[in-house]
This record gives sequence, structure tokens and C-alpha cells, in this order.
Amino acid sequence: MAVERTLSIIKPDATRRNLTGAVNKCFEEAGLRIVAQKRILLTRARAEAFYAVHAERPFYSDLCDFMTSGPVVVQVLEGENAIAKNREVMGATNPDDAAEGTIRKLFAENVEANSVHGSDSPENAAIEIKFFFEDDEIVG
Ligand code: ADP
Ligand code: MG
Repeated sequence: MAVERTLSIIKPDATRRNLTGAVNKCFEEAGLRIVAQKRILLTRARAEAFYAVHAERPFYSDLCDFMTSGPVVVQVLEGENAIAKNREVMGATNPDDAAEGTIRKLFAENVEANSVHGSDSPENAAIEIKFFFEDDEIVG
């Protein structure tokens, strides 16, 4: 296993309920280190660009509305096998399917407002980290 970095987003449903610290505790307890973090408000154009891969899905427009409905916390998580490990800690997309103890099981409101985003592959992690962070903003 190698040390990897992955892009995480704490979504507006979680920031609205003041859960940033509770979500971060889950990452840190799983051995993931937060090596970059900033709280931002996504513009509609930026949300659309980030989720462009889902542009043809029926939930795309609603998803972009949701992601711009309040602040998000964008983060780089670092650790052994960080990409897969973060997906494990997050749980399934739909909280009804998420395993006990996962972030989405603990905190998600529904399949859309599901509290966190995490990169799904090394290729996408690299693209998504660059989408939000300059190299000198990441301190491991
Ligand atoms: P994940 O975030 O688990 O990688 P996807 O990449 O498939 O899931 O979807 C991106 C995001 O779009 C989800 O996290 C969720 O916020 C939203 N989403 C996915 N499926 C649905 C759906 N069926 N209805 C509404 N929103 C959805
Ligand atoms: Mg995804």
C-alpha cells in the first residue's frame, strides 16, 4: 500500500448542521490526515464544472443547486490507501445502504444531501485536488 491523497468535500447539509468537526473526527480516527482544508461557497459554474461527469444524470441540476446552497469545506486527506479508505469511511452514496458507523450512515440526510464527497480513483483524486488547491496549499 502506498501513501495517497484524495479530495474530500464536506457538503452544505453538514456545514449547516455544524458537523465539520464531527466529520473530521471520523477521518482522523480512521488514520486519514487533513493536509489541506478551506471553507468556500461554490458558484453555480464551479459546481457544474466539478460535477460535469454527471451532467446527463436526472439529478444533476438539483445536485448543483444543493452544492451551492451553503458553504462547503474542501479538503485533501492523506494516508495509506487514502482513496479507498475514505470511500469506506464515507459509506454508500444512499445513507439507507450505508454501513453502520460510516459518515453517511451517521450524518447524511438523504441520497443527495449525503454530507461528504470523496474521489473515487487515483486519476480523479489528482484532477479533483488540482480543481481546488495549489501545490503550496497542501502541507503533509
Ligand atoms: P458518490 O458521491 O458516492 O461518489 P455519485 O458520484 O454517484 O456518488 O453521485 C454524486 C453525488 O450526486 C452524490 O454524492 C449525491 O450527492 C448525488 N446523487 C447521486 N445519486 C443521486 C440520486 N439518485 N438522487 C439524487 N442525488 C444523487
Ligand atoms: Mg462520485
